[in-house]
Amino acid sequence: MIIKPKVRGFICVTAHPDGCAAILQDHIKYVKSRGPIAGGPKNVLIVGASMGYGFATRIVSAFGCRAATIGVFFERPSEKGRTASAGWYNTAAFTSAARADGLYAANINGDAFSDEIKEKTIERIKADLGTVDLVIYSLASPRRTHPRTGETFKPALKPVGQTFSSKGLDTDRKEVKEITIPPASEEEIRGMIGVMGGEDWSMWIDALESGGVLAPQATTIAYSYIGPKVTWPIYNQGTIGLAKKDLEKTGKALNARLARTNGRALVSINKAVVSQSSSAIPVVPLCISLLFKVMKEKGTHEGCVEQIYRLFSTRLYDGADLQLDEAGRIRLDDWEMDPEVQREAAESWTRVTTENLNELTDFDGYQIEFLKLFGFRHDGVDYDADVDPAVDIPD
Ligand code: NAD
Repeated sequence: MIIKPKVRGFICVTAHPDGCAAILQDHIKYVKSRGPIAGGPKNVLIVGASMGYGFATRIVSAFGCRAATIGVFFERPSEKGRTASAGWYNTAAFTSAARADGLYAANINGDAFSDEIKEKTIERIKADLGTVDLVIYSLASPRRTHPRTGETFKPALKPVGQTFSSKGLDTDRKEVKEITIPPASEEEIRGMIGVMGGEDWSMWIDALESGGVLAPQATTIAYSYIGPKVTWPIYNQGTIGLAKKDLEKTGKALNARLARTNGRALVSINKAVVSQSSSAIPVVPLCISLLFKVMKEKGTHEGCVEQIYRLFSTRLYDGADLQLDEAGRIRLDDWEMDPEVQREAAESWTRVTTENLNELTDFDGYQIEFLKLFGFRHDGVDYDADVDPAVDIPD
């Protein structure tokens, strides 16, 4: 099958197995070129391990720390002439590469919100690793069914208490246009907190603790975002912001509990990157394109893997200082939030139009990063060659 990108709005419905594998190899090369991270974790559980920040954490854990990794994710294999999802191909390539390097890698594909997947994961840890000393919580999901009540939460990315009007980007047409989003209903706010808030993170830690598979001094980390002021009505102060506040509250409660055995629970505020979930947030693609331009010019641009390598090597391990902010959070977004970066991006924000999009933003860079998420636009891959979309995840 010859696989080309088929983009539908903010999603690409095809993915390329060889492209995903080649991009993974670049990430591994980057991590190895930066050198091993001393004092890193031994056994890592990543919930949301196949794409974005979770996948990057898996790569850095394995190839930067030589840790055993168990990845939990929700991905689709190839069937009926359709390609598999990109996260499926990422995981297949990762597992082969890790095992070829003598590293343990196990995978659990299914709904991380369910009790069943938590139990399966605990059994796997018990059988193969004994305990885990790092648990990463990096889910971004379009829904969650509560395992006890059966209620299905659906998130809506909306402002709270006010209508939001702003510039936005139609990524298909490459047009800057006005967007207006009405305020969320109570139901929509509840839905977002139900999916992206802290309850499920807490349920994971409870299950791992009572299953006896959480090492006494374990660290658990969930990822979050704050971002530039122009996005606050829809992000930081919108439904997702309320969910992230709930996540932070959970982090504090978990931290107090885990501290009794010298463990810790942390929230890391990361920078904006192109991901399947961030491209779905109104305003964010335009914002990322502006930030990419400014940060690339300043030499401070990073993708997920670079960010997580910095998290491990400068904040978490090897005697590093967490450098927490006043609210007790890790700030990996420090380079993005640099006042000069924010000032330049805000200035371009006021001026950007469809006509000067290429001049003021790095929309081309955004689009390339977007296609790379699905295994496209890698220079070393022949995209006209026939490839078999049916790839197994070794397990
Ligand atoms: P992503 O969309 O790239 O990846 C999401 C992961 O979650 C995938 O591995 C997917 O398989 C998994 N997943 C989704 N639903 C699942 C389910 N029901 N069961 C099991 N696995 C499931 O996401 P991302 O952008 O890397 O976001 C991860 C976290 O990082 C989120 O909390 C997000 O808010 C945060 N974050 C993202 C950005 C950004 O710019 N993308 C910035 C800062 C923080």
